Amino acid sequence: HSGFIAIVGRPNVGKSTFLNRVVGQKVAIMSSTAQTTRNKIQGIYTTNQEQIVFIDTPGIFKPSSKLDEFMVNSAISTLNEVDAVLFMVNATQTRGAGDNYIIERLKAIHKPIYLVINKIDQIHPDKIMTILAQYKDALKWQEVYPISALQGNNVDEFLGQLSKDL
Ligand code: GDP
Ligand code: MG
Repeated sequence: HSGFIAIVGRPNVGKSTFLNRVVGQKVAIMSSTAQTTRNKIQGIYTTNQEQIVFIDTPGIFKPSSKLDEFMVNSAISTLNEVDAVLFMVNATQTRGAGDNYIIERLKAIHKPIYLVINKIDQIHPDKIMTILAQYKDALKWQEVYPISALQGNNVDEFLGQLSKDL
């Protein structure tokens, strides 16, 4: 199973760290993909069975200028070109305005959206349910995965789930 996944989330939640973990594979992209999206590819996860292409989409934030607005709209348009969206949050921070803005914009995206709670290596396991409770009803999540992009906890399991769903 193969497909394109956009990664969204406020700054410093660990999007690049996650991508660095899955990057390093040979790029073999289907020609039908829009050029704009192809240029934003950050990581490819490849096995014999599947290829998942990740697109870093950091530009979703409350715009405060025309330029901001252009960037945010460009990021949102990327979401319309992918098969699914990965929304990453930081397990060490409470849900904030940056998260809420992205959640609001995601409400218009009718695709599978995965909630990934990152940096679980930095919190006590008992805390995961507390963090999850902040996001559980915010959107209809395809799946929820607590991970550590830095240490790798639960990342393979998440990639396996994505491969299965795509
Ligand atoms: P981005 O802005 O969403 O791309 O976030 P980055 O990937 O640049 O990460 C921001 C900071 O969080 C860096 O210092 C990372 O090393 C750190 N970080 C990312 N993922 C994890 C994680 O799973 N655990 C811990 N402890 N730190 C992480
Ligand atoms: Mg980044």
